Amino acid sequence: MSSGPLSQKLFATAKQYIPGGVNSPVRAFRNVGGEPFFVRRAKGSRIHDVDGRVMIDYVGTWGPAILGHAPQVVLEAIHDAAKEGISFGIPNPYEVDMARTICEWVPSVEKVRMVSSGTEATMSAIRLARGYTGRDLIVKFEGCYHGHVDSLLVAAGSGALTHGNPDSAGVPRGFADLTVVLPFNDPAALEELFEKRGGEIAALIVEPYPANAGLILPKPGFLQLLRDITAKHGTVLIFDEVMTGFRLAKGGVQELEGITPDLTCMGKVIGGGLPVGAFGGRAEIMNMLAPDGPVYQAGTLSGNPVAMAAGLAQLREMDKQKGYDKLEENGQLFEEVVLETLTKKGLGYRWYRKGSMFCLFFTEREVHDLHDAKTADLAAFRKFFHYCLEHGVYFAPSQFETGFMSLAHSPDDILQTAEMAAAALASL
Ligand SMILES: *Cc1c(COP(=O)(O)O)cnc(C)c1O
Repeated sequence: MSSGPLSQKLFATAKQYIPGGVNSPVRAFRNVGGEPFFVRRAKGSRIHDVDGRVMIDYVGTWGPAILGHAPQVVLEAIHDAAKEGISFGIPNPYEVDMARTICEWVPSVEKVRMVSSGTEATMSAIRLARGYTGRDLIVKFEGCYHGHVDSLLVAAGSGALTHGNPDSAGVPRGFADLTVVLPFNDPAALEELFEKRGGEIAALIVEPYPANAGLILPKPGFLQLLRDITAKHGTVLIFDEVMTGFRLAKGGVQELEGITPDLTCMGKVIGGGLPVGAFGGRAEIMNMLAPDGPVYQAGTLSGNPVAMAAGLAQLREMDKQKGYDKLEENGQLFEEVVLETLTKKGLGYRWYRKGSMFCLFFTEREVHDLHDAKTADLAAFRKFFHYCLEHGVYFAPSQFETGFMSLAHSPDDILQTAEMAAAALASL
């Protein structure tokens, strides 16, 4: 679908003043072709573009909007907090409330520090792990995204045991040399690396359910192996739950899987739509941070009262409404109709879902890692995406993203979406 005339006009102006016309690359629609629409308003399950088109939204501002867009409780919390002041740069009561809530909800977190984005959380967590262990090497997995941190914008090298290659211009070779990238769900590669270099590895960072290459789930025992092998070698295990934290359960994947990482990175849902991230974990490690310890980390807007109030309101509303149970019900309903449609159309595409997170891979191959994900038929995905958009349903503009449902998505929304998605699949 071409975007409407007002969106086109805005995009032309945006391109004059903003690189690529966007403030984050995926928004430019390069993966699906065409031009982005500009949003004027978002409420509940719907977004309204500047040309007056209305869409059911399954991106949810890339995860944060778990109650739906602009929920009343969050609006009120923002209003009430802002009336008292917008930023202090001195401790405020909201950040204490937020820290206590995180420590109560997330099993592994004994102490936590607030930051302003997921990228800041992962960047700080790996510095802390390096400071704590006195080691330099980092291990990550192919297909996991941890924000645009230099040491983590690294792609796999030629062999599993070699250092990685910069995955962006501007990432120094020396940084990539300190990051090893392994295939996800591959115990043998992991064991080989730790056997050879375990004593050098400061941290292993992982999205426990990778949700930035589509949605990929760990094979049984894989997360436990990560826990065991890092414990054995004195490596800090970092769960990057920026996407999964407060999205799948109060305590994230670590609660669902019963695995206790050393450090956890958080973001997205925790901010109620405002810029918030956090990292936390074992007190012994967290106490290495300044001012108590030698690892420097700071932030002018960290623990911002308005952002804390928004996030707390969102978390408390999820708890009050038993939101995670409801999202699982919605997810099941969606799943039933999707699977029924695929069967009816004789399509072998792979569907993965956890609670309110889902991905339909346009491939018949089971997806256990990035390599499998890349077998997807991207041309078919593009057609599907544009058909849906034209008919009032907005899925993420890339095959390699996860979809999100919110509490504002009604059973009616879901059935309407499923009907439309069925027509989209039939049109391929
Ligand atoms: C989104 C995301 C990040 C980066 O968070 P930003 O707030 O965009 O910097 C890091 N890790 C994971 C798993 C994410 O999904």
